[in-house]
Amino acid sequence: MAHVVLKDLVKTYGSFKAVNDVSLTVNDGEFVALVGPSGCGKTTTLNLVAGLIPITSGDIVIGDRVVNDLDPKDRDIAMVFQNYALYPQKSVYKNLAFPLQMRKLPRDEIDKKVKEAARVLDMTHLLERKPRELSGGQQQRVALGRALVRDPAVFLMDEPLSNLDAKLRVQMRSEIKRFHQDLKATIIYVTHDQLEAVTMADKMAVMNGGYLQQYDSPAQVFAHPVNMFVASFIGSPAMSLIPLQASTANGNSVLTGAEGWSFELSPRNAQKVANATTKKVVLGARHSTIKLHNSAVPGAIPAKAYTVEPTGDVTFVQAFLSGAIVNVSVPPNIAVAPDEQIWLEFDQERMHLFDGETEMALK
Ligand code: ATP
Repeated sequence: MAHVVLKDLVKTYGSFKAVNDVSLTVNDGEFVALVGPSGCGKTTTLNLVAGLIPITSGDIVIGDRVVNDLDPKDRDIAMVFQNYALYPQKSVYKNLAFPLQMRKLPRDEIDKKVKEAARVLDMTHLLERKPRELSGGQQQRVALGRALVRDPAVFLMDEPLSNLDAKLRVQMRSEIKRFHQDLKATIIYVTHDQLEAVTMADKMAVMNGGYLQQYDSPAQVFAHPVNMFVASFIGSPAMSLIPLQASTANGNSVLTGAEGWSFELSPRNAQKVANATTKKVVLGARHSTIKLHNSAVPGAIPAKAYTVEPTGDVTFVQAFLSGAIVNVSVPPNIAVAPDEQIWLEFDQERMHLFDGETEMALK
């Protein structure tokens, strides 16, 4: 396997920058997810690494080579696409063997590699079938197998699970993760699904508008989002982002909502707000860090429940505060009805604070 380095990578279409100065290193054997909303530039980035489109500027290193000007076939990569791109007339065996035949490998070596890939992906019993005789998940496994037999330095995967139904997607998610663990493969994986990225990847590269926003482990990105975009994109339901006004009252640092309520900040949070150059502060809180009370409690803020969504083991409640939607999760035994008065208590240790103007996390 090999490491991959992207250095100041740029791709423009006319005056439009689809990829903006993206720099990151994928270590040998690492699983990196490129994740972000539609149009953020993740597929373009992957296609640049694959060599399917030419770069505008910057460098791409795979292993020890700068591959900027190499054809895809010379980059030692294998791609897995969302539409599988299998040959419909060929059996699974022939689909797997074909890339090796193109490379003019001896027949017995091809046979060995195909059978080994089929064993790894648990599809030995499917080798004589045609793609139309396979389920979506099995077809996806053949597509993985076809990448695997090539024994590439890097696997590039573009939304490989997006054509599968929800249940199969969860199952294949585990299988690809297992595939990565067993082979210690270097994988770059494009997805718009933050949950896929969080559950599978060693590191995630969160992109927006062609820019790399944050590149870190899912745990770090989740716990320390660098800005409001990352904070709201990662996690479900989304982190609540509540615009507030910072001020000082009786020597204490407080945040005030549009309805006039306010609460006093802990010394650590007060310091962050004091470091900011603006009084506009956005409070970020994940649903599980907000306590819902049915009666007034010191420090809790009055609100009205708007929607109540029981899911079985947890109930999601939405309320409006300071013009923002607030998502709260409560155990199913807590009774809340829409339009009911509730009180929300934020956990100072686990809240996030953002600069209301730059949208960056306060430090
Ligand atoms: P999606 O999840 O919808 O595929 P993405 O994050 O993968 O989105 P890209 O396909 O990388 O997004 O596209 C990034 C931006 O570049 C988009 O705004 C897209 O319209 C634009 N773009 C992509 N290819 C071209 C092209 N050949 N010509 C002009 N613009 C392009």
